[in-house]
Amino acid sequence: MIQGVNRQWRLAVRPIGPIDQGLFRWIEEPIPAPATGGQILVRNLYLSIDPTQREWMMHDTYLPAIRIGDVMRSLAVGRVESSTHPSYARGDLVQGLFGWQDYALVDATIPGAATRLPPGMPITRALSTLGLTGLTAYFGLLDVGRVAAGETVVVSGAAGATGSVAGQIARIKQCRVIGIAGGAEKCAWLTREAGFTAAIDYKSEDVRARLRELCPNGVDVYFDNVGGRILDAALAELALRGRVVLCGAISSYGVTELPPGPKNYMNLILKRGRMEGFIIIDYVQRFGAAVQELSGWIAAGQIKDQVDVQEGLENAPQALRRLFSGENRGKQLVKIADP
Ligand code: NDP
Repeated sequence: MIQGVNRQWRLAVRPIGPIDQGLFRWIEEPIPAPATGGQILVRNLYLSIDPTQREWMMHDTYLPAIRIGDVMRSLAVGRVESSTHPSYARGDLVQGLFGWQDYALVDATIPGAATRLPPGMPITRALSTLGLTGLTAYFGLLDVGRVAAGETVVVSGAAGATGSVAGQIARIKQCRVIGIAGGAEKCAWLTREAGFTAAIDYKSEDVRARLRELCPNGVDVYFDNVGGRILDAALAELALRGRVVLCGAISSYGVTELPPGPKNYMNLILKRGRMEGFIIIDYVQRFGAAVQELSGWIAAGQIKDQVDVQEGLENAPQALRRLFSGENRGKQLVKIADP
């Protein structure tokens, strides 16, 4: 048994309004020991911070809501400290829903509970471009959006973890790519670093007017990370047989009253368009092949990725808040221990 304390953030109340530390309770417990029969003790190293965590705190989604008093649910990468499972040994790097805590006791007999990292894969990349956000961009754009060379693709949340990869894949597939992001600095990164054709600053520009200007033949694929007014503007500018990929709607996560439905959805009828949502976990069987292709693009310098690492378990609530204020620069992670 390892001596010491297991520091944890547990959910105290369901959020109304912005994320802050008061929504969580800081607990210190003895470090648990794995029981015989397939448990492993994981030392968490990096936490993935994701907008969907706010939804998990609120209500049932594709996963049940986090119960009040439970450790805050989070994807993480950690190192196996001790194991009673024959396939896991001390020192293995694994990924799973290990939560906002220093140590997680995991039943490794459950398929997918602790997935081993491929040898040599950097941890930060396993939680970003080669992890769920990169894979979401990949399948959302290629499978749901079905982009073709020469098309005009618009991505919202474009400077974020998912959006930035979606836009760059569209560029690799020889599309014109317009990114929508908050602020001049993010827009400059999109065009100068990530190779987007153009960028729209939704905080200072009229999105609909700029879309009309930049997409004179309409939007063939709109990859939506934000919902609300930006979705409505993109719907209005849809091209014939345009596709709207519903990836996320961060502008409505946590609002007390949902905005009225999009006004311009009738354009889907006029333009014979398609709007389709997806959840990345449905693609798990195809992750291996996608990671291979994404790795090739990274190695060839065709995808630039950004990770934004905050330090310390105590800062996990603030890191989650950053996603909603737009402070994050690329994939938001929290480092809680040295690998
Ligand atoms: P990001 O790295 O994109 O961070 C979130 C970004 O959202 C912020 O940086 C901010 O950028 C933007 N944002 C925040 N509030 C608003 C707002 N009110 N209006 C417009 N933009 C806003 O996060 P992820 O890449 O992890 O997630 C992006 C989206 O993808 C989310 O909606 C998420 O739920 C979804 N998702 C869906 C999955 C699926 O399976 N369908 C899987 C993973 C993610 P800015 O400064 O530009 O405003």
